[in-house]
Amino acid sequence: MTEMIPFCDPVACVDAGCSPTVCTGAGVPSNTTLFERSCAAIPGGVNSSIRAFRSVGGEPYVVARAEGATITDVEGTTYFDLVQSYGAVILGHAHPAITGSVAAAATDGTSYGAPTPREMKLAEAISARVPSCERVRLMNSGTEATSTAIRLARGVTGRDRIVTFAGNFHGATDALLVAGGSGIATLGLPGTAGVPNASVAETMVAPYNVVPELTDEVAAVIVEPVAANMGVVAPEPGFLQGLRVECDRVGALLIFDEVITGFRLAPGGAQEKYDVTPDITCFGKVIGGGLPIGAIGGRADVMEQLSPLGPVFHAGTLSGNPLATAAGLAALDQLTPEVYIELLARARHLAALLRDACASAGFAARFPVVGTLLGIVCGADAADPVRNFDDAKTTDEQAYGRFFRAMLAEGVALAPGAYEAIFVGLAHTDDVIDRIADAASRAAATAATG
Ligand SMILES: *Cc1c(COP(=O)(O)O)cnc(C)c1O
Repeated sequence: MTEMIPFCDPVACVDAGCSPTVCTGAGVPSNTTLFERSCAAIPGGVNSSIRAFRSVGGEPYVVARAEGATITDVEGTTYFDLVQSYGAVILGHAHPAITGSVAAAATDGTSYGAPTPREMKLAEAISARVPSCERVRLMNSGTEATSTAIRLARGVTGRDRIVTFAGNFHGATDALLVAGGSGIATLGLPGTAGVPNASVAETMVAPYNVVPELTDEVAAVIVEPVAANMGVVAPEPGFLQGLRVECDRVGALLIFDEVITGFRLAPGGAQEKYDVTPDITCFGKVIGGGLPIGAIGGRADVMEQLSPLGPVFHAGTLSGNPLATAAGLAALDQLTPEVYIELLARARHLAALLRDACASAGFAARFPVVGTLLGIVCGADAADPVRNFDDAKTTDEQAYGRFFRAMLAEGVALAPGAYEAIFVGLAHTDDVIDRIADAASRAAATAATG
């Protein structure tokens, strides 16, 4: 008879005969074996294409567990993690405040299909910190938030046209999966197979950081108030204010996609930092404390056009989920104003050390900081500063790939894409930051030699 290990070890439980509570402990698979097996079951072996290593080379590490600033793969290798679930995690992995509230919530049931006190409290917590959000509707992802915000804006204004910005990312929402134009605002073409021309026929793409001239056909302008999906690009002075004025001029709604910036830049997000009030805000990532979530918030008269009060349909089986709202409340509870001051200092500190490490090694890289957000731009010929998508594309993707692989070999996990942010959170203490900088010195030397 096989000896049973009482608690299933994720490192060993992938083999036949294991259940989550009884593990046969049958052998430790490698990243490669597991990833190959995943590829046979899951297209590309990943459930979000951004996780693939296509653009940086190599194969993903397969994660067994994570704690604080570190992540450990199934082979037992531990990395300092600068991905932090692409910004969904801000307190560090497996923070006791989160795991404790999720565990406690789970014992009361995991989904009901009826209102709960926790979803009310999370909506209140968002409204309390982001005054433009007089009403909040919770849902399951940032993608659902942006698609619902677009539907709401179209329903409220009775107009179809949407303006978006090249290099901004709003999730997998058909109307926003549009090829990034350059130059002046142009009507978009689908940015991916499977999106009909008709789905983006009313979507215009404008260059970031230039206020487009709108017509009264426009329902809404949607913008990342700090662009964090083409590196990290600050809004230039006057850009967000200009969008507000231009939207008001033609009666269009201004939608801020704060899925990354919400509760990461400041308690009130980018709208607080830049003092511009949108009509609708999209949230995700931080507000779920690492569980699946999304939300939109906005003026009461706009939000109350959502069903059941208004004509714009929205529904979701798992919306306002008890576990996600428990995790989100626990996360927001920890995020006091002092935390943001600390995160600002840490982002600047890490940026300075990474800059020094790369400069001493002769590896051309810049680390732009916008508030608590940190980006990376590789290559001596890259645009400086980066203001829009055309500038962002001057980053040297090959050089980023070399740096990424060298960092991973030195025990630091960056995102496997040259346009992702580097996420600094509460778990990145001074000691962790120093050790990341040490690793970066060696990695930059390796990356510099080509
Ligand atoms: C991540 C992201 C989204 C999509 O959120 P999901 O939860 O992945 O669907 C939308 N907008 C921005 C700015 C994002 O960074």
